[in-house]
Amino acid sequence: MTRRSFLKSLGTGVVAFFAGLMAFGCGKKETPKEEAAKPETPEMTEEQKKEYVFANCICGKCPSWVECDEKGGFCLVGKSQCIKEKKGCICPECPVTAKMGLKWGYYCVAGSAKSLMEAEATG
Ligand code: SF4
Ligand code: SF4
Repeated sequence: MTRRSFLKSLGTGVVAFFAGLMAFGCGKKETPKEEAAKPETPEMTEEQKKEYVFANCICGKCPSWVECDEKGGFCLVGKSQCIKEKKGCICPECPVTAKMGLKWGYYCVAGSAKSLMEAEATG
């Protein structure tokens, strides 16, 4: 298996998970619901997955966190409007990272897991 195909297969679940969430109404809605990728964790509804990310996000305990009107979950919603400086990232310790097999971090300044995976696949 080539590196590209490995990354592609690794990222498929992540994309399906987050694409499903975005289609559900979190963030900009660009994909019609019937065309959205099917999540690979059918035991959870889209709403439950969205709730899972926000309920388990530990961004608020991170040294980079800036207190403002945000609730974290940057791996899902993309960049923060408030956090601009990298002062450490605790995403590797977050249960969402383990459950979804995420491999990045600093989503608050770098963008969502979906966008990072897509950039890697095309880069
Ligand atoms: S992986 Fe990072 S951004 Fe995503 S929910 Fe966990 S702490 Fe928040
Ligand atoms: S995405 Fe990472 S660096 Fe940004 S606030 Fe969350 S834990 Fe901290």
